[in-house]
This record gives sequence, C-alpha cells and structure tokens, in this order.
Amino acid sequence: MTPSNAWNGSPNAYLTFDIGGTKIASGLVWLPESGGDMPRVEGTVRIPTRPESGGGDVLARLLALARERLEECRLNGVALAGVGIGSAGVVDSASGSILSATDLIPGWAGQRIADAFATISDLPFYMVGDVGAHGLGEATYGAGRGYGTVLSVGVGTGIGGAFINHGGLASGAHGVAGHIGHISHGLGAGMRCSCGTRCGHIEPVASGTGLGTLYNRCRPDGRPEVSGGKEVCDLAAGGDPYAQEIMARSARALGECLAGACNLLDPAVVVVSGSVANAGDLWWRALREGFADAALPLVKPTPLLRGVLGDAAPMIGAAVAASRAA
Ligand SMILES: [Zn+2]
Repeated sequence: MTPSNAWNGSPNAYLTFDIGGTKIASGLVWLPESGGDMPRVEGTVRIPTRPESGGGDVLARLLALARERLEECRLNGVALAGVGIGSAGVVDSASGSILSATDLIPGWAGQRIADAFATISDLPFYMVGDVGAHGLGEATYGAGRGYGTVLSVGVGTGIGGAFINHGGLASGAHGVAGHIGHISHGLGAGMRCSCGTRCGHIEPVASGTGLGTLYNRCRPDGRPEVSGGKEVCDLAAGGDPYAQEIMARSARALGECLAGACNLLDPAVVVVSGSVANAGDLWWRALREGFADAALPLVKPTPLLRGVLGDAAPMIGAAVAASRAA
C-alpha cells in the first residue's frame, strides 16, 4: 500500500471491510475534506470468505487480515480515523454484531464483530449491512449524490436494497429495512425464495439466479435449460426472442415492485447496481415500463439510475458510516 503524499496522514482515512458470501474485500478509504470531491480507495485486497468453514473461522481470518492491514497502515504512517465494515447478514450496528444470516455463511449469525476488533485495536469501529453500505456509498458519492433520499437496489445473485433518508441509512425496527427482494409479486408465486417462502417474492424471478429459474420454468418443450441469468442475458443480447421475452417479464415485474416501494417511500432517485443492471437496454426499458405503469403520477418522474461506484461502493459506504458514527 503506497498512499500518495497528498493524502497521507489525513484524519479522514478509514480501514474498511466488505464481507460477502464468497469474498472479503478490504481497502483504505480516504474521505474527501470538501463536499465536491470524491473519496479515494487504495490498497484493496481480497481473500476468500470460505463460508463452509463456519462463522467462527470466517471471523478469525477477518481478524488476521485486519491485523495485517493495521500493521501496514502503521508502517506507512497512515493515521486512521476508524474502521468501517459492511457485512452480509442483518447487522446490529449498536452492538457491532450479526443478528441473522442466511446459509450463505453458516454460523455467521451471533458473531460479535465489534468485540473481536476491540481485542486488536482501540480505533473507533462501526458496522452496517453490506447492502446498506453499498447504498450509503452510492447515495453519498455515487449516482445518488445530491438527491438526499435514495432507494438503492442491488440486483445480482439475490436482490437487496437500502433506503437512505436525507443522508442517513434507515435500518427499521428490526434492522431489516430495505429488503426489497422480499416484496411480493405474482410472477414469483410458487417459486421458492431464498427466505424460504413460496408465496411469491420478487427475488426468485428477478435476481440473476431468478432470471435463469424463470427461463427454465417457462421454457417451451425441446428448449434446453440454461445454467443461470448470465446465459439468459447472452441469449437475449444475441437476439433470441424467448430469452428476450423472459428478460422483459422479469425486469418489468421488478420495475413494478420498485414503483410500489417508491409509492411508499417517495425517494428522489432509485439507484440500481449489481450484475443484472449490466443486462442492457432491453432490461432497462422493461424495468422503466413496469415502473411507469405502477408508479403514482407524482412518483412517475423519479429517475432510475445505474450505480457508478461498482465494487468500491460498500467500502466507501462503510467509511461514510464510520465517519458519521464518530
Ligand atoms: Zn423472500
């Protein structure tokens, strides 16, 4: 890690971690002094999460990585202002622990991350959910910058979301606010959602995984199965009318759900990120059509924008969360 001299020693340097089901990313984030500038993310490293080894082992390896990174900062003369984490699962920011987690990381629920960090560093520590961190990053420095109230939606393997109300991340009464993938839609009826229900959530038909499932479930006789959403996107991009129809139905349903969320919350902008947001014009057109059909007249002009920060968003958001908690 070789931070440039201009930033070295900034009081706004945060060591951040983005903990997901497949990888843990860590980067040094320098938040800008003035409102118009962009943060800098440097020295990003990634290690595999290895969720199959269990939550306790994931935490042990997270701590080992944190020790290395703290030592790197010390050797490079970087004065850290704090540690920010965005983690998979439902997070209790007040206690710095994981309230619940899916089988993506078995045994992650109940892990007390803040207590563990306190054994290796006395720096201020703050943790939010990874989807919330992503949303906070996009809302503060990305596509949602300047809008104030932002609905951030990530459409990848699953569908996650975060509502940023006048700059603050809304967590709700149970830490669950923002789970937009678990809004009901008829297209999902009978399809098993990652939360366990078959009552018809949007995630099992509009996530990347869901696109593949919808394609396979509805496909005409003789048409081979696809391995996932990426294949549906590739077929659609190649002009396959059935893949295009499935993609449009899926995106349209998601657009209707986004409109429902906007009718309820009335954000100034919706920022859509994740691998499926790269699916192309057909997907975006159907998303916007579904949105326009289901949005209240005053909500209809709400812009649906693509996220711009990519993989850096959760680390930047974790730094923002940590800076505000200080
Ligand atoms: Zn669900």
